[in-house]
Amino acid sequence: MRRIAIVGGGQAGLPLALGLLDKGYQVTVVTNRTPDDVCNGRVMSSQCMFDSSLQFERDLGLNRWETQCPPVEGIGFTVPHPDIPSEKAIAWSARLDRYAQAVDQRIKMPFWMEEFASRGGNLVIDDVGIIELERLAASHELVILAGGKGEIVKLLERDASRSPYDKPQRALALTYVNGMLPTPEYSRVSFNLIPGVGEYFVFPALTLSGPCDIMVFEGIPGGAMDGWREVRTPQEHLAYSKQILKTYTPWEAERCGQIELTDENGILAGSFAPVVRKPVLTLPSGNKIFGLGDAVVTNDPLTGQGSNNATKACKVYYEAILAHGDQPFTAEWMHNTFEKFWEYGHCVVDWTNSLLIPPQPHVLNLLGAAQHLPPLANTLANAFNYPPVLFPWWEDAHACDAYIHSQMTEEIRA
Ligand SMILES: Cc1cc2nc3c(=O)[nH]c(=O)nc-3n(C[C@H](O)[C@H](O)[C@H](O)COP(=O)(O)OP(=O)(O)OC[C@H]3O[C@@H](n4cnc5c(N)ncnc54)[C@H](O)[C@@H]3O)c2cc1C
Repeated sequence: MRRIAIVGGGQAGLPLALGLLDKGYQVTVVTNRTPDDVCNGRVMSSQCMFDSSLQFERDLGLNRWETQCPPVEGIGFTVPHPDIPSEKAIAWSARLDRYAQAVDQRIKMPFWMEEFASRGGNLVIDDVGIIELERLAASHELVILAGGKGEIVKLLERDASRSPYDKPQRALALTYVNGMLPTPEYSRVSFNLIPGVGEYFVFPALTLSGPCDIMVFEGIPGGAMDGWREVRTPQEHLAYSKQILKTYTPWEAERCGQIELTDENGILAGSFAPVVRKPVLTLPSGNKIFGLGDAVVTNDPLTGQGSNNATKACKVYYEAILAHGDQPFTAEWMHNTFEKFWEYGHCVVDWTNSLLIPPQPHVLNLLGAAQHLPPLANTLANAFNYPPVLFPWWEDAHACDAYIHSQMTEEIRA
């Protein structure tokens, strides 16, 4: 039986732990919050996950909330008119081929932790530092660091060549609410890009008390959507959320006449810099630790990809561990395994990072063209499930123009 330790009981670490446990591995998870701490704490994410990530959870038998969680059936995209705030300059929506879902991590992680322990996994509650990593490395064949945005992950070296930013690019906030009016026809992530101010998106989800909607605010630092530091109470947080909508996206404010917070912990405000780190940490003893999830690739939540990325990396690592049989987990194996994920992951990072600066003209053109070209809107919506489909045209103006042209020609033929 191979002995594997995972530090961090989150979206990346727990599915890997449960998957390996099922395959007969001896697995230890060390995490710094108990199931009760997580359940009774603040919301941590908006955690919208698209079909291919959900499928990995289904494959591991971890999709326990699939029938209770409201589906997210499409993506809507709106840019307000620059001069007439009550009007839209760009507006389109398209259905996802398969639904997305967002299950509050306060439900998911405690359940998975308890499930792991009840299936025979060794669940340890501890705040891991270098000493604990050394101990784990001495007693396990592989130690995976999946500590999310915890201080410990800063031991992994920042990869400057893959990290264009060294400061937060958005002031982030979450507001979990009940009572929001649904979108017409089908449920969706309603995404609003407000030039010079930031972004607002919202979608249905499942929280502790049942179905809800999660409002996500991405304010440009120092801009008009960056006032969360002045907010003192949950009710002020809700009021500020509503005020932003009233000012910049009145069509979204119309849905919010009756909204209430789901609970006093259903709010979050903060910021962090997007970063990619080198995946292998060498401890003072020389032992190697392998990073996973946000620990190595922390994306801004703008494109809603962090949990998806964590899950997709988890799948790559899981399959690589199984395929490795009894061989030693060397630094070379760790690098190769991460690079296998990075073939996919770099597209997610490049796409997300490109949206943190004012969109380039060809991107604005593309987003505008989708209004008149339903197949293009469909491609952009479904890219949330698999962002590599956006390349090369997302970052290459000539390829983008050619792509729009080909879509127009097809539309005329149809
Ligand atoms: C505002 C916001 C909105 C988001 N919205 C979305 C979205 O819509 N869709 C999406 O896909 N992603 C979204 N994300 C990102 C997503 O939540 C993360 O990318 C995902 O949770 C990463 O999983 P992880 O397992 O790497 O880290 P986490 O889920 O953060 O888990 C890390 C775990 O490690 C533990 N830990 C930390 N330090 C230590 C230590 N020293 N010792 C022991 N344990 C430790 C933590 O307690 C935690 O349990 C959002 C994030 C934010 C902040």
